[in-house]
Amino acid sequence: MKKHNFSAGPSILPQYTIEKTAEGIKDFAGTGLSVMEVSHRGKEFVAVMDEAQALFRELLNIPDDYSVLFLGGGASMQFCMVPFNLMNKKAAYLNTGTWSAKAIKEAKNFGEVVEVASSKDSIYNHIPKGYGIPEDADYFHYTSNNTIYGTQIREEFDLDIPVVCDMSSDIFSRPIDVSKYGIIYGGAQKNLAPAGVAFVIIKNDILGKVDRMIPTMLNYQTHIDAGSMFNTPPVTPIYAALQTLKWLKEKGGVAAMEKINIEKAAVLYDEIDRNPMFKCPVPAVEDRSLMNVCFVMTDEYKDLEKDFMEFATSKGMSGIKGHRSVGGFRASTYNAMPKESIQALVDCMVEFEKMHVK
Ligand SMILES: *Cc1c(COP(=O)(O)O)cnc(C)c1O
Repeated sequence: MKKHNFSAGPSILPQYTIEKTAEGIKDFAGTGLSVMEVSHRGKEFVAVMDEAQALFRELLNIPDDYSVLFLGGGASMQFCMVPFNLMNKKAAYLNTGTWSAKAIKEAKNFGEVVEVASSKDSIYNHIPKGYGIPEDADYFHYTSNNTIYGTQIREEFDLDIPVVCDMSSDIFSRPIDVSKYGIIYGGAQKNLAPAGVAFVIIKNDILGKVDRMIPTMLNYQTHIDAGSMFNTPPVTPIYAALQTLKWLKEKGGVAAMEKINIEKAAVLYDEIDRNPMFKCPVPAVEDRSLMNVCFVMTDEYKDLEKDFMEFATSKGMSGIKGHRSVGGFRASTYNAMPKESIQALVDCMVEFEKMHVK
């Protein structure tokens, strides 16, 4: 039976990425060796790094005064690298979910954190609006897509201080204006590559403004100066990321992706809103994520949650269980998710309704 992979992360990758990576694991660039067993300083891998960085720049239209880094430690490592490198006294953070809260907790080790707004009291079911951001903060940090709660901030901020954004779960899903940001970072395992690498897009001139000693490996400058090759980078995940970037380009880039992502999410949200058995925990339509679609059973059908899970699983749906902090269901609809899989899930919901709603 065909499996439909709705996992939130690590998550679905293009078949192209999986096949090309498998090829490279067996025979890398005609070397007769695996990509896993050659020097990262050899000309074949240097070419992989160069092309991956160049495609990042091309697909996201990254200006020349920014660097593109591939680092270990995941997005979570960035929660400390950002304040380590940027915070002198004070930073502003928007709290829209578990990942924002983790970033805030880490930043508090380095100075004063102003939480400009939070939706925590309503279990992060909306994006706060109408708050101020202190102009004397060293930077402003937010999470663009809240993977766990299914909310997303697609608007971009025009600030005089550096804007730092965790885009782990919506990078390459839509066009962005990189010139509005100081740092964009994320783990690759949601929309780009297997786990093991984080990407960092950083404006070079925001660095060098803090007095503290920064350990060599946690200093962005180290990695910028070394072209992201200071130490051994996560070679195989970067190789896989390059395959996804090629696939993205072939598909028409981020503008084409956005169009498809809007269509895919609409099919699912329309069914959730129509079907009397389900509802979306995010009431404001403009706050709903196009990458992680959360839904729960309505009060009347609450006790059928386990049944729907079993039914959907029997039809090939995989990874639709909601995060343990929210419950219910979550269908992640990343770039690689085909429309047919969305339709298969919708068909399950329609069929389940026919079985239970008189
Ligand atoms: C998954 C996720 C993270 C954590 O990423 P790791 O690479 O596991 O550290 C952080 N932020 C967001 C928005 C995520 O979705």
